[in-house]
Amino acid sequence: MAGLAEPYKIKSVEPLRMTTRAERVQAIRQAGYNTFLLRSKDVYIDLLTDSGTNAMSQGQWSALMLGDEAYSGSESFFRFEAAVREVYGMPFVVPTHQGRGAEHILSQILIHQGDVVPGNMYFTTTREHQELAGGRFVDVIVKEAHDAQNLDPFKGNVDLGELERAIVEAGPEHVPYVSVALTVNMAGGQPVSLENLRAVRRLCDKYGVKIYMDATRAVENAYFVKEREAGSEGRTVREIFREQLSYADGCTMSAKKDAIVNIGGFLATRDEETFEAAKELLVVFEGFPHYGGLAGRDMEAVAVGIQEMVDDDYIRHRVLQVRGLGERLLEAGVPIVQPVGGHGVFLDARRFLPHLDQEELPAQSLAAALYVDAGVRAMERGVVSSGRDAKTGENHHPALELVRLTIPRRVYTESHMDVVAESVSHLFQRRAEIPGLKFVFEPKRLRFFTARFEPLHPSPIFEA
Ligand SMILES: *Cc1c(COP(=O)(O)O)cnc(C)c1O
Repeated sequence: MAGLAEPYKIKSVEPLRMTTRAERVQAIRQAGYNTFLLRSKDVYIDLLTDSGTNAMSQGQWSALMLGDEAYSGSESFFRFEAAVREVYGMPFVVPTHQGRGAEHILSQILIHQGDVVPGNMYFTTTREHQELAGGRFVDVIVKEAHDAQNLDPFKGNVDLGELERAIVEAGPEHVPYVSVALTVNMAGGQPVSLENLRAVRRLCDKYGVKIYMDATRAVENAYFVKEREAGSEGRTVREIFREQLSYADGCTMSAKKDAIVNIGGFLATRDEETFEAAKELLVVFEGFPHYGGLAGRDMEAVAVGIQEMVDDDYIRHRVLQVRGLGERLLEAGVPIVQPVGGHGVFLDARRFLPHLDQEELPAQSLAAALYVDAGVRAMERGVVSSGRDAKTGENHHPALELVRLTIPRRVYTESHMDVVAESVSHLFQRRAEIPGLKFVFEPKRLRFFTARFEPLHPSPIFEA
């Protein structure tokens, strides 16, 4: 099934620079074979992330002019708050500069030294903030999530047995909340079913444990529920979305994803005490509670985006565009994570590059090779992103060694998707020539952002 034709047309264009292979070979060397360190002028199709790379609508651009830049009591804040209340159903909200700002505040308020935070697979910044606050993340995702070829429709689900074991082992008083991500980014954008969310809620109620959701891509999750879960076929995405969030005590949110803007985030909650504590930390780390690190105009754009994101036609196109790319790759025999998730296509670097050991950083190398081949920028989500064990200093060895082709919202056309599919297929034919990489610089925290690498041996893949 191909993606649908776009439910929008183009009013303003951003030119792309075409580069030669020689220029790209030079650029990736200068970037230390880390796609994060490329300059965007050297990138043709930028699939590094869907975070903050979205195209805003005419509604959002015109709302910018309504931005009320008052330090306190901004009208823009109240419009933003009304949108969160209406669509998320959460009474209390503070804006933050982006998702990790909300993660920071929430972790500092609720997590104490020695606490355990169970969750359905780690996310980089989320786990980092949980650990900085003295907590330990425990993965309680279903085992299907770790298998790139398992076709289960809800590979983001929480394993209820594992969750109960984690709560009982730590003692409920040492579990400040369960961290449930909708969808699960690191598993390839896999959704969680409503049935699973209800069961997690029941279990948490039994032990008196809170649930905080990472609602970063919860709209895609709602679309998958509509598509796959019995009883939800006839419902609107907006209704399903609201039900999902009804099982949470609160959520952190990166508006740079679902809300189709370029910057922003928030922490929303039903709990007034947490809200009061959040406002106290907000003034230290983000800003006054009526702007939290954002301009008034940013909050306007988020408020409009929150309404647009739950439009059924919009989200259907988004999910099917991503899936269309995945299906083209499958036809070419390329190993990818299945089912295709909501925000991108994840190449399975283990099967793509079976000649490389995980210590040879296969996904990092594949991402660099893809850039050189066609100017397509992707992101490693494997051993490099996973970092080292805080205690032993050894590399984590995640089961999934992936290259993420993330699709920005409303930005690229089907023709761009063709270029990507052709380039990946071309590299797949030349896969035996792709060499491993080694670290030449490794920072201590979130190393994938700024680490530098070199090929283990010379290869035509990285030559002009
Ligand atoms: C992007 C992301 C975050 C963090 O949000 P930022 O806006 O980048 O700070 C948290 N969780 C998930 C699942 C994300 O994808």
